[in-house]
Order: sequence, then structure tokens, then C-alpha cells
Amino acid sequence: MWNKTDLESIRKRIAQLEPDMIEMQRRLVALPAISPVSGGEGEKVRAEYLAGLLQSWGLEVTEYRAPDQRAPCGYRPSLTARLKGRTTHPTLWLMTHLDIVPPGPIELWQSDPYQARVENGRVYGRGTEDNQQEMAASCYAVRALLDLGLTPGTDVVLMLVADEENGSDYGVGWLLENHDLCRPLDLVVVPDAGNEAGTLLEVAEKSIAWVKFTTIGRQAHASTPHHGNNAHRAGARLLVQLDRRLHERYNAEDRLFSPPVSTLEPTKKEANVPNVNTIPAEDVFYFDCRMLPQYELTGLLEDMKGIAQGLAQESGVEVKVEPVQMAQAAPPTSPEAPVVMRLADAVREVYGGEPFTRGIGGGTVAAFFRRRGIPAVVWGRNDGQAHRPNEYSVIANMVGNAVVYAHLMG
Ligand SMILES: [Zn+2]
Repeated sequence: MWNKTDLESIRKRIAQLEPDMIEMQRRLVALPAISPVSGGEGEKVRAEYLAGLLQSWGLEVTEYRAPDQRAPCGYRPSLTARLKGRTTHPTLWLMTHLDIVPPGPIELWQSDPYQARVENGRVYGRGTEDNQQEMAASCYAVRALLDLGLTPGTDVVLMLVADEENGSDYGVGWLLENHDLCRPLDLVVVPDAGNEAGTLLEVAEKSIAWVKFTTIGRQAHASTPHHGNNAHRAGARLLVQLDRRLHERYNAEDRLFSPPVSTLEPTKKEANVPNVNTIPAEDVFYFDCRMLPQYELTGLLEDMKGIAQGLAQESGVEVKVEPVQMAQAAPPTSPEAPVVMRLADAVREVYGGEPFTRGIGGGTVAAFFRRRGIPAVVWGRNDGQAHRPNEYSVIANMVGNAVVYAHLMG
């Protein structure tokens, strides 16, 4: 742990480094790193710039290349940059992602998304908040320690990864699968989400199940329904039965999550017949379910099939139940895990406010660590600008978050 004097000099040094952080943002904005699946060339140019910079600071930089023939260079680079601490165990990992999403319709932007614009305490440009704000903040937290000649309590590794925006198969997923990097007792912080006050520490996520239901009956004229079998009516009945019975069965509550229950929502409905006077032979609808991690998705799917089977017998239709996406949640990070407690302390110290832990309904890259038994926490103080047109980073957040990261390194 840093003492009061150390903390004061860290805070001061980071404030002095603000122009350098803005300069890093400027450079990164001008070096877009877009996945080949989104029409880009990957992260090569950006990784080269960062590797050069971090090496010039004296950090031990390693580049990892995930083979990807869709990228012109044939690989997707990820970097680690290590600052030696007084001990190696546990190592503190700060993971940010190199890639950005495309800017979307250009007419929605007030200025060039690939040219940083600094205005009213903000830096505008694609990627400035997601995830460059935290990349600059974590890099300059390390830089401040180097400038002050302070040795962190434990090894600190900046992990700059590819492919976060498209599933991480060429980023952290590949990295953890192919290289022995993190250990279960390490501290992993993924600064890639959060809230405006910086008080939200994300430690858990729900499982996701998207399921397609198709009912197949027999087509007929609407005036002679006895010649057909109405797939739409059967589908409607099935939907109501699923809604009632699944909610009865999957009714557990967990206060860690908001909302604290599993959500099971009928969402998409495909068009059936184009005219009013035909009885449809086929009807299709979908459920989007976000389940508390205690439930196994295989069991949920079995229950859905059971309900569908009952309906099929009752209505004389055929029913198909097909998973569209099934992602079982990783085990949650304990709200009492050391990385969570230390981050909460740092946030309290730097920003005031009372941090709270929460589970969310969607997946995050922290799951790659959690599945390996490595507690990971997702955090950030930000304005929720990810993927928006006219994306910006609040400079005060970038600077403040750097102080939080430096705090953690003590
Ligand atoms: Zn992100």
C-alpha cells in the first residue's frame, strides 16, 4: 500500500501527465483498429505504436499473435507490458482492448471520427471512451510510478488485447487458451464498463438463452378452419404456456443482480401469411432469456421442449424448439474477492461515493477469466459513450481513473 505522501505525489504526477494522455488519445484515434469481420485490417498498426511507446518507457513488452487469415498481416496482435513489483504473486492485470467498432453512419458525426477533437473537457472520436480512455489511464498510471521511481507492491501487467468487439476468439479467449498468463490468485481488472459515478463494480453475469419456437399446422381458407390447423393459434397458446410455466419454475431471486430475477421474454415474431384470409401453416416466435447463473441452460431447454411437446399433442401441430444462442454464465466473482475489495477502496479514496457490486444481464470479457477460476472485476467511470456517434471521453474521468489504477498498484 502506498503511504499518504506517495499517493499525493502520484495524484500530482498524473495531473501533470494529462496532456500526454490526450496525445495518446489523438494518436490512437488516428490509428483505427477494426476487426476484419467489420471491414477493417485488425489491430496491427495500433499494437506497433503502443508496443514501441511502452518499450521506450522501459517496460517488458511481449507481443502475442493469434493467427487470423482474414487480417492482411495474417494475425491479430495482443500485448502485455510488465512493470516489476516487489513481488510477483499476485500479479495485477489491467486489461483493455485494442479494437474499436466502426463509426456507423458518418452523417451522425459532427467531426471526423478518426481525428480527435478536444472540446469542453472532452476528447471526441471513435474509440475515445471504449476502450482508449482506460487504455491511456492504465498506461499513464504506470508511467507516473516510473516517473516517481516508485516500485509497485506487486507485478503490474497491462494487457492490451485484440478482438474484444467480436467475441475475443482472437483476443483474450485465444490468449488464455494458448499462453499460461494468469493464475487464480491474481488480481484482474477489466476497465470496460461502469457508470457515471464510478461506483458500479460488475462481478457477475446472467446466462443467455435465445430460443426459436416454430409451430407447423395446415394451411386453409380462413372461412373453413376445419380444413386446416392454425399454426398461429397453436403458437400463441404455446407462448402463453411457456410464459406462465417457465416463470413459475425459474423464480429464484438474487439481490446481486438488477433485476434480481431471471428474465424470460417473448421478443421477435416472424411474419406468417401476408393476407388476412389465410390460416397460417407455420408460425415462428422467439424468447430471450437472461438466467441467474445457478440455472443450467440445458435444463431450461429440456423444460421448453417438454412444454412444446404437450402443446403439440393438445393442438395436433408439430413444434420445433431450436436454440439460437446459448451461453452459460461463468461463475460469479465473489463481492469479497481481494480484487473487488481493493478496487472498492481505491474508488472510495479517489472519487468519494460508495461503490457497490452488481451482476448484469449481458456477457463481458471478464467471463474468460472467471471460467478459469480467476476472479475478475469490470469497472470504469464513464459516460456510457461506447459505440455511439460522436463518442467522447471525459478528460477528468481519464485522469481520475488513472489515479484509481495507480492506487491499486500500491
Ligand atoms: Zn469495450
